[in-house]
Amino acid sequence: MINHLIIQKNWQTQLSTVITSLDELLALLKLEHLRADVYVPSHFVLRVPRAFVAKMRVGDANDPLLRQVLPDKKEQLAISGYIADPLAENAHNPTKGLLHKYQSRVLLTVTGACAIHCRYCFRQHFDYQANLPNPSVQDTIIDYIHKHLEIDEVILSGGDPLSVSNRRLFQWLDILEAIAQITTIRLHTRLPVVIPERLDEALLERLASSRCQIVMVIHCNHANEIDELTAQHLQRARAAGITLLNQTVLLRDINDDIQTQAALSKRLFAAGVLPYYLHLLDKVAGGAHFDLDERAAIELYWALLAKLPGYLVPKLVRELPNRPFKVPIDVYKYA
Ligand code: SF4
Repeated sequence: MINHLIIQKNWQTQLSTVITSLDELLALLKLEHLRADVYVPSHFVLRVPRAFVAKMRVGDANDPLLRQVLPDKKEQLAISGYIADPLAENAHNPTKGLLHKYQSRVLLTVTGACAIHCRYCFRQHFDYQANLPNPSVQDTIIDYIHKHLEIDEVILSGGDPLSVSNRRLFQWLDILEAIAQITTIRLHTRLPVVIPERLDEALLERLASSRCQIVMVIHCNHANEIDELTAQHLQRARAAGITLLNQTVLLRDINDDIQTQAALSKRLFAAGVLPYYLHLLDKVAGGAHFDLDERAAIELYWALLAKLPGYLVPKLVRELPNRPFKVPIDVYKYA
């Protein structure tokens, strides 16, 4: 771990000083020799908060947190079946800023910004600029929800919805709470893991006072991502009455073994978070080297079922284009 890395208390400062320089990152981790193996594509640059880097092991090129953020030459390879829009989201985009794929839920791409760039991200080619729910389309979005009475839940996503200011986020909460049919607001976010201070007092108070049920689905792939400070902030969110769930992406050579998955579930639970989904990788262009054979994933899952109580075993799923739900993986397929 990097003890000398200075982490600001203020989340806004942390967000504005994330590491974007490859040389700085490699120097901090004493891994300058990796420079020649790294390729940083212009559409999806290096981006990693210092608090996340502080959880990495110095001198370890295989650190599971580093592997998630360090660009790799393999991202340039064009591999058959790995495409820019693996979930065909463009086909479910009735208006700017809104995705409607699942019957009772819509997803708002509140922002294109993330605190961290995860190299396997399925939205790394998504055209956020053309798809932000800016004030000019806000009324269209509200109208759309009003006209679709089956919608009772709105998912704030992105990018990362917690990378916007509290002021902007609270505006969205006000708008959504004013729509009578909405019972649940969900936030999909990686920020509580990569900059835990983002769960600040004002945010937790606002969420706790919502008339809607608030669900926060964090994204954490490895137990090392949850240090003491991260756990404390998550526990505060739980104490504020927020339902906390986690989704993990199954990543080759990062979290594809039983010890790592079991440790993650236990660490999450200790921090007040229930494991929710274990996703097989979305087949995004540039991400093929993270993918795991389905059979290996199922074998791992059986081991997880045997090792952990049921409430600590996430659902093993894959998201497929044009399926109105996450598809459970048939664990008997190779039996
Ligand atoms: S935080 Fe989420 S949306 Fe942002 S790059 Fe990572 S996986 Fe993608």
